[in-house]
Amino acid sequence: MKEVKINEIDPYEGSLLFREIDRSIINSIRRILISEIPSYCLDTIELKKNNTIMNDEYLAHRIGLIPFTFVENEENFRNQEDCNCINGCEKCHLYFLLEKENNTDELLPVYSSDFQLESNKNYNIKPVEFKNFKNGILICYLDKNESISLRGRIHKGVGKDHAKWSCVSNTSFKEISSIKIKNNELSEEETNKVISSCPVNLFYQEDGILKIKNEENCIQCSQCIENTNIELSYHPKDFLMNIESNGSYTIKDLFQKSLSILDKKLNSLKV
Ligand code: SF4
Ligand SMILES: [Zn+2]
Repeated sequence: MKEVKINEIDPYEGSLLFREIDRSIINSIRRILISEIPSYCLDTIELKKNNTIMNDEYLAHRIGLIPFTFVENEENFRNQEDCNCINGCEKCHLYFLLEKENNTDELLPVYSSDFQLESNKNYNIKPVEFKNFKNGILICYLDKNESISLRGRIHKGVGKDHAKWSCVSNTSFKEISSIKIKNNELSEEETNKVISSCPVNLFYQEDGILKIKNEENCIQCSQCIENTNIELSYHPKDFLMNIESNGSYTIKDLFQKSLSILDKKLNSLKV
């Protein structure tokens, strides 16, 4: 790999530009991002009260899909099944409570931000937050005199066990286009035709010469090749990978974690 460039839209969404990388490596990174980076969700729900119109299973399923993220002490947490204790200790015992009641005549929304860490203060963990949704994920609405009371246990898992632990909402990659202008002796009319054919404005004119910029932004729509002067192909070893995190980790963290998992896998291979 010669170069990796991170283009962030925000810390949780963006793209990675790879130069001189084999397709098998970038596909391994994509697969690790989807299914092998550990994350945290509520996996066991004890429902004490639910008199909303949502049945218990539906509510538990919705809650189970909410990602949680550690602010600190992530490295100390382990699942209860992997712990040496018998009845749960401070290393593995991590519960959240959701208690909400509507005593008003208005509908009352229940959000992921309504979860409260039960008692274990060794960890700083919370439901994921989104820039434009300060209260987090909407779980349901409570009508007058409706209430929810439940307790859920945090469980560490990976996307290959269940999609709820997948840290990315979306990730995909594509080859970077290679666009060649075959003959630059074009008339003004032909030049303008090429420039206006591109929906993402990659062609421009400088000193009377038609040029192309930022090939990595090409959406591969093939509109420009209707002009016989343009040739579209692909750089076989340059890729653009889009990553949309579910909020558990920033895309920088996701990339670093995926590389370290890939490294461990490669090191475990015996020749
Ligand atoms: S393939 Fe589409 S996006 Fe890419 S340069 Fe041609 S017109 Fe523009
Ligand atoms: Zn324990």
